[in-house]
Amino acid sequence: MIPIAYWRNRKVYTRMVGSKCKDCDAEFFPPVRICKKCGSRNMEEKEMPRSGSLLAYTKLSEPAQEFKEYAPIYLGLIRLDNGVNIISMIADADEEKLKAGARVQATVRKWAEDGKEGLVYYGYKFRVSQ
Ligand SMILES: [Zn+2]
Repeated sequence: MIPIAYWRNRKVYTRMVGSKCKDCDAEFFPPVRICKKCGSRNMEEKEMPRSGSLLAYTKLSEPAQEFKEYAPIYLGLIRLDNGVNIISMIADADEEKLKAGARVQATVRKWAEDGKEGLVYYGYKFRVSQ
């Protein structure tokens, strides 16, 4: 993970700030500068809802280097309550509860650590609610 990119995008990672088109109301996450629906550049920041439903998930036994110590990693395809689909890591994954349609809630967790004395990166993950 590149620290500069992380700091620049921190509000995206921790507050789930996406974008909303002021012309057609379409919402996007991660944020976009040009509306993918109508092509407008008239965009504003918009925090995404922190709840949604799980559509599908996949289990990564061999994730990228910086996430190796957290393997296996579960990645979920989630439909947020505003209809935006996102891919997120799933925290506290229990395969019994990872069913299509399960309600999920965002939580801020440690994403990665830059060595033992280095920086700790935080970001959203979703967990099955209840
Ligand atoms: Zn638009």
